[in-house]
Amino acid sequence: MTIHGVSAGPASKDHSGPNPVNQQSLDGSFGLSVDLDLRVETEASAELDQAQSPEASGFASFGFSAPLLKALSAIGYKEPSPIQSAAIPELLLGRDLVGQAQTGTGKTAAFALPMLASLDPSLRKPQVLVLAPTRELAMQVAEAFNSYAVHLDGVRTLAIYGGADFRDQIHHLKRGVQIVVGTPGRVMDHMRQGTLDLSALRALVLDEADEMLRMGFIDDVEWVLNQLPAQRQVVLFSATMPAEIRRISQKYLSSPAEITIKTKAADSGRIRQRYLMVNGPQKLAALERVLEAEQSEATIIFARTKAITLTVAESLEQHGYDVAVLNGDVPQAQRERTIERLKSGKVDVLVATDVAARGLDVERITLVINYDIPFDSEAYVHRIGRTGRAGRSGEAILFLTPRERRFLTGLERAVGRSIEPMEVPSNATINQNRLDRLRARLTAAVQATSCSEQEHALLSEMVQRVAGELGCSGEALALAALELGLAGQSLLLEGDDTLFAAPRQGGSFERQGSHSGGARQGGRGERPSRGPESHMERFRIELGWRDRVKPGNIVGAIAGETGLNGKAIGRIQIFDTHSMVDLPKGMPAEVFEGLRQLRVLNKPLQISRVQG
Ligand code: AMP
Repeated sequence: MTIHGVSAGPASKDHSGPNPVNQQSLDGSFGLSVDLDLRVETEASAELDQAQSPEASGFASFGFSAPLLKALSAIGYKEPSPIQSAAIPELLLGRDLVGQAQTGTGKTAAFALPMLASLDPSLRKPQVLVLAPTRELAMQVAEAFNSYAVHLDGVRTLAIYGGADFRDQIHHLKRGVQIVVGTPGRVMDHMRQGTLDLSALRALVLDEADEMLRMGFIDDVEWVLNQLPAQRQVVLFSATMPAEIRRISQKYLSSPAEITIKTKAADSGRIRQRYLMVNGPQKLAALERVLEAEQSEATIIFARTKAITLTVAESLEQHGYDVAVLNGDVPQAQRERTIERLKSGKVDVLVATDVAARGLDVERITLVINYDIPFDSEAYVHRIGRTGRAGRSGEAILFLTPRERRFLTGLERAVGRSIEPMEVPSNATINQNRLDRLRARLTAAVQATSCSEQEHALLSEMVQRVAGELGCSGEALALAALELGLAGQSLLLEGDDTLFAAPRQGGSFERQGSHSGGARQGGRGERPSRGPESHMERFRIELGWRDRVKPGNIVGAIAGETGLNGKAIGRIQIFDTHSMVDLPKGMPAEVFEGLRQLRVLNKPLQISRVQG
């Protein structure tokens, strides 16, 4: 573990115990002076790499139960991270705590594990309440609790946040949960209407307190703090310590232990950062286009889960890429081999999860693709830091679905500059690139042959012989040789690139006419009068008049899902029990898969291709 500096201020200078944080806690009056606080500073990335060390089993020393240790070992936690080493003993003692730490330091487990170790599973009332600024963080923290509590009988966690069904949350609360993770507004709503009973609450955690302040939730947080039982533990985590957060700590926390973990921000100055807005089902097709269009030496693609790394890698492999995967399931020895292959240029594309790629340092990586958005800006900074190594420049591209657009501002703040928009590369761009690459290869081959003299002589004889037999020109021969060089691959990409028209954000779809002259046929029992136009393909959907479906419903759903411009959707014919819709030819398989999952008027679309 890399501890850059452990410094104790005057008040703790004379401590001699093995646990300096405990020692400090004896006199620790947070907020009087930073010099009074013990500070543990570390580089988050280094710390968690160390956590993978196989011989370590540091969590047992906290006295955690076997089921908790089993869960930790199953998810691959071996050594506690610095914030965990410092915070867990304090929290197990029941102390209040202020932690200055960002995501990526292991702060969630630092509070979740001691909370789980201390709660009473037989009491089915909320005992731990975590307030988090966003729905995403609330879900992520709840998932972490669930993964640690997987072998703890009767322990239940619930995430409650705005925008989700209230009644459903009440139902779960009534069934009995011990841990509630929620956004302040929704937690307040439940408290006000008596559906969140905090009479048995033992601990409150304020996660990312500065973010809650920034988002204007601080009054709500204080309101919640004022409703809590007098005897409770309060834990506050914050990446920064603005005055308002210090005030809250001083007012509501009693003699808290204070821990500071510093993370080093990556130097993102040399990295050009762009984002690409794309609908979920089109991500794979868009990824292939981006890889073709960007001239990168080696690329790393970040995906959120192990399963996605595999899907992405398989799809790229099918398109002829040599791809390697790095995720938590890949054994250590194989990970090292994979990194060697990437370093030596045997493989140029790596698909990885965050944890597996932490600390990866390969100079050849000139492009980082965030196929899935990172959980937070800290992870984003770590990810893009995989390029621009050793003083080189790099490129970073972030895929965002329309719903994820709001994360952009946070990321831009984290990197201190704007992230430029880009479009999915069009056929024209890709084809120009293909031609440029082919010309470069041809020029290089003319300038320096890779054949031996003997091979050269044989090939030359062959050329003269074929030319003589067929009586064809040198140009015709050269063209035929170039075609051979394409090895059966088509030179030009011809798929429909209007499929990638910038997706709309929510809202209703406004019809603007169509390629087929805006024709929208209706009427009972009407037969499909003629086949689709030459650039269109006909699809059948299992919704008709009987289901009260209207052309607008179909157009809206398909445009919303595929990002297809409304104009690109052709003729729609509605019958009693089904309908027909013409869509541009060449729909990528993933887009079609997305359509197959679609529901319209709460009924499955069940779309299928009409053969012939
Ligand atoms: P957090 O800072 O809580 O968001 O954690 C960052 C990441 O580190 C998460 O993916 C955790 O699952 C992981 N993590 C936390 N603690 C450990 C540990 N002791 N060993 C390995 N990974 C950890």
